[in-house]
Amino acid sequence: MKKPEKIRKFKVIDFLGNGNFGFVFQAFDPLLKADRAIKLIQVPKPEKFVEAVKEAQTLEACRHKHIVDVKEVDVSVYEGAPCVYIAMEYLAKGSIQKHLENRFISINEALNILSQALLGLEHAHNNNVLHRDIKPGNILFGDNGEAKLSDFGLALHYHVDPSDTAGYRPHQPLEVIEGSPMDKLSDIYAAGITLYRLINNIPEMEFDFSSRDEWKAAVRKGKYPDRKYAPHVPRKIKSIVNKAINNDPGKRYQSASEFRQALEKSVLSIDWTPINQLTWVGTGLSGDRYEIARRKKRTGWAIDYKRNSRRVMNLCVEHLCDDEVQDRFFRIMCESGA
Ligand code: ATP
Repeated sequence: MKKPEKIRKFKVIDFLGNGNFGFVFQAFDPLLKADRAIKLIQVPKPEKFVEAVKEAQTLEACRHKHIVDVKEVDVSVYEGAPCVYIAMEYLAKGSIQKHLENRFISINEALNILSQALLGLEHAHNNNVLHRDIKPGNILFGDNGEAKLSDFGLALHYHVDPSDTAGYRPHQPLEVIEGSPMDKLSDIYAAGITLYRLINNIPEMEFDFSSRDEWKAAVRKGKYPDRKYAPHVPRKIKSIVNKAINNDPGKRYQSASEFRQALEKSVLSIDWTPINQLTWVGTGLSGDRYEIARRKKRTGWAIDYKRNSRRVMNLCVEHLCDDEVQDRFFRIMCESGA
């Protein structure tokens, strides 16, 4: 793929990646003096034109502060072939996926990202649009750190053709693998898997099934994903995720807003981040600084717990053996911050 110099009036600056249907470039609008992300979709036959502009029309119909903003859609020529281009606001901070690959995501940050993406999803659902491809790669950070749902390339007006299944396979629920049409509850499931990955810091979902039946069986038995949680994830957060990704759609949150409200009620009073293998630091909702550290002494392991640099005696422990220190460490962290 060769980066074009220009796409109509836009000066192409960089290649950002390719998605399901086309290439995405960072570009500059010299008339408005604004950065843009431009998705270029090749249209080999004239009848494909309608399909290609659909993503832009969906974005137009779903304008919302938590959905990436569309600026214009038009036709162009790329390597001698006709194309449709969609110009969108350019979000320089990139996708949550990129962040997941490069840094630790704390639980409160994960809850906040997902709550905002769910506001966008709720708006899409209220406009009868299914997203069908919710994943960390399709949530972008806005300039002020707000989350925005993007890539409506697979979105569907669900009164039109709900039978067509699509999307990222690791985020598909059991009923869709078994052949049911995608619906709002399959978007909820995909959002639930996204949250599962954010709180556990899982950049990639392995997917190495040898057949569809093997995949289906693993999902049915709750082994894919395996629902194992990182040790710093408190029980109340696990329950929320497990509900969102329940194999029975009737037991999931029944709407994006119900899911979002559960997340908003569950913000942790202390948000922990590791600084090395033995020490985590926490930020309290009112700005207090916490630190929990374990260290090996001659008499066994000790756990030190500090709030604003002062030891909190009833949470400090000594004389722990190798087998119990890890458990105790994360239990104190989960219980003090839940
Ligand atoms: P898929 O289509 O399989 O979901 P994808 O999410 O990588 O793949 P796109 O959404 O088409 O595909 O995006 C391709 C790349 O462009 C991604 O790296 C994405 O983060 C980036 N990108 C998309 N839209 C924007 C935007 N508005 N601002 C900045 N970067 C963007």
